[in-house]
Amino acid sequence: MLRVYNTLTGKKEEFCSLVPGKVSMYNCGPTVYDYFHAGNARNFIVFDVIRRYLKHKGYKVTFVQNITDIDDKIINRANKEKVSAESIANKYTDAFFEDLEILGITKPDICPKATEHILDIISLIKRLMDAGFAYQVDGDVFFEVGKFSDYGKLSKRSFDETEQCARVEIDKRKKSPRDFALWKSAKPDEPNWNSPWGKGRPGWHIECSAMSMKYLGETFDIHSGGQDLIFPHHENEIAQSEAATCKPFVKYWLHNGFLNINGEKMSKSLGNFFLVRDILKKFKPQVIRYFMMSAHYRSPLDFSDKSLAESGKALERIENCFDNIRRNIKDLDAPQKNTHIEWINKFEEAMDDDFNTASALGVVFDLITEINSLIAGESKDSAKLKLDVFNLETFCSILGILPSIEDKELDKDLLNLIEERTKARIKKDWQEADRIRVLLEERGVVLKDNPDGTTAWKRIKVI
Ligand code: AMP
Ligand code: ZN
Repeated sequence: MLRVYNTLTGKKEEFCSLVPGKVSMYNCGPTVYDYFHAGNARNFIVFDVIRRYLKHKGYKVTFVQNITDIDDKIINRANKEKVSAESIANKYTDAFFEDLEILGITKPDICPKATEHILDIISLIKRLMDAGFAYQVDGDVFFEVGKFSDYGKLSKRSFDETEQCARVEIDKRKKSPRDFALWKSAKPDEPNWNSPWGKGRPGWHIECSAMSMKYLGETFDIHSGGQDLIFPHHENEIAQSEAATCKPFVKYWLHNGFLNINGEKMSKSLGNFFLVRDILKKFKPQVIRYFMMSAHYRSPLDFSDKSLAESGKALERIENCFDNIRRNIKDLDAPQKNTHIEWINKFEEAMDDDFNTASALGVVFDLITEINSLIAGESKDSAKLKLDVFNLETFCSILGILPSIEDKELDKDLLNLIEERTKARIKKDWQEADRIRVLLEERGVVLKDNPDGTTAWKRIKVI
């Protein structure tokens, strides 16, 4: 039974999706004004693994992650570089997808951009105006926090606390310092769109309410983000959405802990960040992923070259085991599922406990010990060993640390063969698919089919 920690209730709860067998999930995505840093990567990797695990549990997952492509930070950067906000947003959106791919993060099912949903945003603001939760001043529209009695329920902040936070920037036109912008009137030379309140652009919070509800419905299962988003971003999303619909917005709120440097949150504003692009010059993508999995997703995690190097060492033990398998086991056909579930139970016990990837890695290492000793013993071809290998691949694939070689390292004709096989599988021509699998295996390429497609890895030494 899967249990997840819900920030809303402050408890670990049994996970029970709104629609049996399906999970609707929204993760707050990047503001595209720069390359992403390791702190952002923690969020993207953690929720990629949670998504994979939910799929492994048999759920059909719809995963939405937005792109904030209009924002003060984007406009400031554009002004600095004397280019349009659009060109900054496009450049870093492309870079974002490139980095996701390098890190082996499965692309979200839907990646809505704020600028492509202006009409949805406007109609949600209109709904809030009609319901009396929003007011207009000089072309700006504000949400009236005092009208939403549940304000503070996610972040557990009292009225006074939320007011104190809001006093940082006082706008005298607001009825209360706690009120926040839904629509911002256009300033000279800023991108803007027509609206019933004049030209302007949307606020950040309303964008996520509008796009999540558009794609996942007015109530959905999981909303996630880093812990820094609990207040005010997610608190405001709840207020806007529930005020508009009178329905609960989200069932489970999941938040990842910070990636720190010397005990401080890694962030752009503090300047203590490392871009994923730069880290990749020294470490493999799987090392970064392993490192992120080495702690529970809600715990703080300290970033340093030393801890990445330690993750690299641990990952080597996993890679060595795969080498050992490739060198010693001839026939790697996947065994029948459900014949031996002892290891699956152990792995799931760890992951069912609020996605405890650190414990799950412990299970992976115990399994590796067993595989290595079975190979060293007399049972190189035993069914048990093959099942263990199958389980090891499955667990590493869920955790995103399966040693795979990048496509570009495969010869073109091998890639063509893989593509041919995919086509055959789509046509349900299993005979042809199997024929190609054998051909590939003869050339040292082992395939693993999973719900997101086929991963390939090449034996280092062909037997
Ligand atoms: P941003 O582009 O700043 O909105 O960040 C994208 C995602 O990364 C959000 O879910 C943030 O909460 C998350 N994030 C930013 N910095 C960190 C950090 N140091 N540790 C963990 N998550 C972070
Ligand atoms: Zn958001």
